[in-house]
Amino acid sequence: METVLAAVRVASSKTEIREFPMPEIPRDGALLKMEVAGICGTDVRLYREPPSSAPVIMGHENIGYIARTGSEFTRRQGFKEGDLVFLEHYVSCGQCEWCHLGQYRHCENTDWRYNPNAIRYGYTSAEVAPHLWGGFAQYVYVPWNAVIHRVPKGVTPELAGLATPMSNGIEWSLFDGGVSYDSTVLIQGPGQQGLSQTVVCKQAGASLVIVTGTSRDGARMEVAKALGADYVIDVEKEDPLAHIKEITGGRGVDVVLDCTAGAGTFPILLGVEALKRRGGTMVVQGEVAEFPNFPIGRITAKAITIKSARGHSFKACELALQQLASKRFPLEKLTTHRFGLKDVDLAIRSVGGQGVPGVVHASLMPWE
Ligand SMILES: [Zn+2]
Ligand SMILES: [Zn+2]
Repeated sequence: METVLAAVRVASSKTEIREFPMPEIPRDGALLKMEVAGICGTDVRLYREPPSSAPVIMGHENIGYIARTGSEFTRRQGFKEGDLVFLEHYVSCGQCEWCHLGQYRHCENTDWRYNPNAIRYGYTSAEVAPHLWGGFAQYVYVPWNAVIHRVPKGVTPELAGLATPMSNGIEWSLFDGGVSYDSTVLIQGPGQQGLSQTVVCKQAGASLVIVTGTSRDGARMEVAKALGADYVIDVEKEDPLAHIKEITGGRGVDVVLDCTAGAGTFPILLGVEALKRRGGTMVVQGEVAEFPNFPIGRITAKAITIKSARGHSFKACELALQQLASKRFPLEKLTTHRFGLKDVDLAIRSVGGQGVPGVVHASLMPWE
């Protein structure tokens, strides 16, 4: 019997390599041979604090070659064997209001927070047949309702592994934050997400991009500058608000993007004060469960719009792939590390700041 190797999260911060049967591909399904699974801050959190005790093949930022297809799959989706694709982690129902609006990331079929049987790559239990629901594996199962994008010619699988942070960058800064020509932007956090936003904001015409980080982020701050950040601020070495006010002549910025991890309430409080006097926009990730003394008065006095960062749309993914294909920014500075399947544990810990130092974006290569 043909088998597939996968790294399975079996408990908090614990991974096992397991074998799964090669799935039968139905007429309306396909099989993806994995090339690269990107690892992000969400993986770090889900690995440390799994939302359930079920065994899960993690990996939700998946690039690979279509290896097998059913005839009906090719008819519906247009993809054939040999195509290099970016597989979104959302698996839509195709019937609900959100799906019809093209906002399938909100579809209940893929919303693990509300639906215990949701199908989402990197989240769904490996006990659910045909088991291959995550990218930390040699193959991934692709049902008829998967959302797939063609990787443009000239983009390597490793570079394409940036499609998710880049598409989030487009969704959050352009579509949610409204960043465009001459915008002034504060990006908090110089990880792969903040660096992707830096590129997107520069490409969109922002006249000022300020990136904040901590003393640990020295190498990432250099990458931020190489990608076009006008200023980088170490919030541990200097008063970030005073510096932002100085840079902007006291005016503040138009848009604040929170790309921090584990920074508590600090980024929101800084963001509120760093925004311009009236009508700024802040895009938040809402990491903190509670927010004592939330400055609701300041927010309404300044007429701040708060938007929630919630993944990406189809359009954002397509634009992200075009950005990667344009070679306009030295994005290879982001793809710093590669790990093999047996090193999933080390890879996730390294993205979380433990393990291998200096990681910006880690690529999990399931065949290495
Ligand atoms: Zn991710
Ligand atoms: Zn739906």
